Amino acid sequence: MQFLENSLLELITQTSTNLPPDVRAAMAAAMKQEQPATQAAQAMSIIATNIDMAQEDEGPICQDTGMPTFFVHTPIGVNQLAIARAIRSATAEATRRGKLRPNSVDSLTGANSGDNLGTETPVIHFEQWEQNDIEVKLILKGGGCENKNIQYSLPCTLEHLGRADRTIEGVRKCLLHAVWQAQGQGCAPGALGVCIGSDRAHGYVLAKTELLRHLDDVNPVPELAKLEAEVMEQANTLGVGPMGFGGRVSLIGCKIMAANRLPASFFVSVAYDCWAFRRLGVKLDAESGAITNWLYRDPERLIEKMAQDESFPLTGREVALTPPLTEAQMRSLKVGDVVIINGDMYTGRDAVHAYLMKNPPPVDLNGAALYHCGPVMLKQGDRWSVKAAGPTTSIREEPYQAHVIKKYGVKAVIGKGGMGPKTLAALKETGAVYLNGIGGAAQFYARTVREVVDVNLLEFGIPEAMWQLRVEGFAAIVTMDAHGNSLHAGIEQESGAALAALQNA
Ligand code: SF4
Repeated sequence: MQFLENSLLELITQTSTNLPPDVRAAMAAAMKQEQPATQAAQAMSIIATNIDMAQEDEGPICQDTGMPTFFVHTPIGVNQLAIARAIRSATAEATRRGKLRPNSVDSLTGANSGDNLGTETPVIHFEQWEQNDIEVKLILKGGGCENKNIQYSLPCTLEHLGRADRTIEGVRKCLLHAVWQAQGQGCAPGALGVCIGSDRAHGYVLAKTELLRHLDDVNPVPELAKLEAEVMEQANTLGVGPMGFGGRVSLIGCKIMAANRLPASFFVSVAYDCWAFRRLGVKLDAESGAITNWLYRDPERLIEKMAQDESFPLTGREVALTPPLTEAQMRSLKVGDVVIINGDMYTGRDAVHAYLMKNPPPVDLNGAALYHCGPVMLKQGDRWSVKAAGPTTSIREEPYQAHVIKKYGVKAVIGKGGMGPKTLAALKETGAVYLNGIGGAAQFYARTVREVVDVNLLEFGIPEAMWQLRVEGFAAIVTMDAHGNSLHAGIEQESGAALAALQNA
């Protein structure tokens, strides 16, 4: 199979950089729903621009390319071990080329393997079938949305919705709850893959497999088709909206299957995927490994541009900021303000925050903008360049952020999905703000980076290192201010009330 590895490399590259037509269509429809000049519309506009940029430059749509998960069907007699070897080799090469972020971390030592290879990574599911060709489907699903997967064991009691019984009605409640609990942290608008039944472990696998369905298909099981339609309609009345900013579209797909279960168990397993819904597939010739057909793509249909306008829609009311930032500047900002940062910012996520709890920072963070971001970086000669650099989910840093702000004088924390009450209190106490970038807009933000000035703590691996990035025109929205206001807390409360109204719908 001389073409196999190249075919797989092309599958990975296309999956990472070019959203499939059904997802584009769902996102285009969602964009039309949002009211102009709202934060939701602004977020959708950046997302659309980002989708176009990723395709044009063949760069990752989102910097978090997840744990690559392959679903492979092979004819009887085909050597699956050879296919697994080729998948691993293509994965390492795609990482070397900057199409995948090195995401495989030793769970005991924290060491990043650097090439996405390691124990049980990438994930490969094999099945035989009685067809002549090989089929390979790939899902790239990042940590933000993966962390929002959820499993319910019915009967249970759900916040705002009361008791969920072992009925279709109980499942409906779980699915609405799943959308609500994700808020903006999974980069809404999202999609649900759902398995009713099975056991805890297999139920999650089956739920993820539902994400392989076309977003615009209709479930062949009438009860499930009805449930999918109901959940779509009702979830989009919750008002979570794009990035959790509030708005009309919270969900772009809901795909449900039912598997048999034990009499004693009734699990509802939910795989939550974000708007950067990256999945593609290919059919391969079983002799040569050459691609004979792309799945999810209509060769007759041209890829349409998503964005109307390539730039961030400026209103003239944006506040320009150049770090180092002052307390007075931060106290003058309020929730809803749009800021444009020009100057240097430092990336820092899980490993950096844990480090800063015990060690002084390697750079002066007084007045700094600290960016929750795990970029995709490539080294060319002795220079680093940014291949993708959108914000990561901030709530993971909630246990550490207040300490880091207070101890080191950070004045702006940039991320997505918002943070909790401890951080909000620290912002108020010290005069600092939280800025929400648009999650997944990795190409959009990468283009604002004029220079990679320096890197510290590279021993944590590329995504976890502390990068000093010089940016120009980096746009974000103040969603937590220095006066104790949080857009996230407000939307969670309002959408919780909307959820309660659906209790008996
Ligand atoms: S779009 Fe958001 S949730 Fe999805 S992979 Fe990227 S950062 Fe994670």
